[in-house]
Amino acid sequence: MKDIYGMTHEDLEQYFLALGEKKFKATQIYEWLYEKRVQSFDEMSNVKKSVIASLKQDFYFGKLKELERLDDVDVHKYLFELSDGNKIEAVLMNHDYGNSLCVSSQVGCNMGCAFCESGRLKKVRNLETAEMVEQVLQIEKDLKKRISHVVLMGIGEPFDNYENVISFIRILNHPKALAIGARHITVSTCGIVPKIKQFMEDENQVNLAISLHAPNNELRNQLMKINKAYPLEVLMPVLKEYIEKTHRRLTFEYILLRGVNDSDACALELAKLLKGMNCYVNLIPYNETSHFEYKKSSQERILKFLDVLKKNHIQATIRREFGSKVKAACGQLRSNYEEG
Ligand code: SAH
Repeated sequence: MKDIYGMTHEDLEQYFLALGEKKFKATQIYEWLYEKRVQSFDEMSNVKKSVIASLKQDFYFGKLKELERLDDVDVHKYLFELSDGNKIEAVLMNHDYGNSLCVSSQVGCNMGCAFCESGRLKKVRNLETAEMVEQVLQIEKDLKKRISHVVLMGIGEPFDNYENVISFIRILNHPKALAIGARHITVSTCGIVPKIKQFMEDENQVNLAISLHAPNNELRNQLMKINKAYPLEVLMPVLKEYIEKTHRRLTFEYILLRGVNDSDACALELAKLLKGMNCYVNLIPYNETSHFEYKKSSQERILKFLDVLKKNHIQATIRREFGSKVKAACGQLRSNYEEG
């Protein structure tokens, strides 16, 4: 038995062909699942009995259990329980351009970034494709709002769960499924180079964001373990190749940590590193957590850092802060829930 929400359109076509049925049935099923949003196979009234019987035998309708929802201005944070009892989070943000959902891709994370709450719980397992799709479906249902943008920036490293993440993107993007345009989907990675290369071949219309957080290896090694495997001299040429091949603008995320990576010298070094690339930098005010010593940079410092980048012709913006009241930093809700 499989969760029906994990099936890409292509998977379903293959399924029907193997049953000796026409593959257009995949579209029919998708209309029931994603347009009419039915919750059982019995409601699929234009599908013949024998097919319904097969579907019932082979698939189930998975469901995340909503444990908690916290609301703040323009943000809703959800804690879900998976069927095996593990817990994950998703955060919905209302922007003027639409509703953007931040989705988790793993239970825990093995990347071990020094400042990140998610990594305090080591990876327990990857999320199934269906468990990612269901985050979108449940929140749309709960809020009675359509989600227009999806970012894979919740708990987990998407490129450490590559296949399931790609299937998830296919379902997000399919016109008969969630119909979210590729340019409204963003995958964020700490920099797993072989997977960035693969992604450039597989999904060249989806936005890619790189968590950079430091302009040199010395600092990046301190903050992000992954830099030891794929240091900047390995990462940067691949990103340049990505931009050249996909003609897409790349996003760099840069958390500002007080006294660590927020000096003018760091900004200047960052500008040099990114010079000439079709990219922009998203400066992230650090969301402080009680488990780490790191502090957020002052507003004044953040503005100065931005100014240095701009003067050096690097496009940059400061990320709007959402819901510090609702513990919106990755993994904070889960760890508070589990640790009391
Ligand atoms: N593993 C992926 C995606 C998940 S994290 C990645 O590393 O890109 C999404 C973003 O939130 C990353 O840039 C991460 O570094 C950042 N982040 C983690 N903890 C944070 C915190 N406390 N405050 C602000 N941003 C944080």
